[in-house]
Amino acid sequence: MKMRTLNDLMVDVARDMLDAEKQLVKALPKMAKGASSPELKEAFETHLEQTKAQVERMGRVLEALGQPIRAKKCQAMEGLIAEGKEVLEMDADPETRDAALIAAAQKVEHYEIAGYGTMCTWAARLGLDEVKEILGETLAEEKTTDGLLTEIAEAAVNEQAAS
Ligand code: FE
Ligand code: FE
Ligand code: FE
Repeated sequence: MKMRTLNDLMVDVARDMLDAEKQLVKALPKMAKGASSPELKEAFETHLEQTKAQVERMGRVLEALGQPIRAKKCQAMEGLIAEGKEVLEMDADPETRDAALIAAAQKVEHYEIAGYGTMCTWAARLGLDEVKEILGETLAEEKTTDGLLTEIAEAAVNEQAAS
């Protein structure tokens, strides 16, 4: 597809992010299973449910853009998830694995925050209010998840320092 306008770019990134979210729906249950801390497990499970809703939401975005709901392979998410898989397979103590899982998950959230942040800016520029609102909902969830992961990591570090 030839990229002529910001609108074309928007559709391209929407398809990329749709694929990214779909990959995460498959990966998050494995991350939850691999986590030892109950808080971390719960954070992954909660975000799995949010991610399923985000897939639906991105479908609505593509519809609002007048496009079919079609995904395009997100190479970056494939790489980030491959790194997460390495963490799950590594020989590590539970606390160490949890720390590595949090790091891997935050890289994912930061990729998503960058993607949705960009899309929100473009939607505002294009005057696509409905699209911006839908994307803003997802962006807020990614930011909250990132913050929660930081809190879990910091709590674990403090706990280990105290013991
Ligand atoms: Fe997401
Ligand atoms: Fe991508
Ligand atoms: Fe996310």
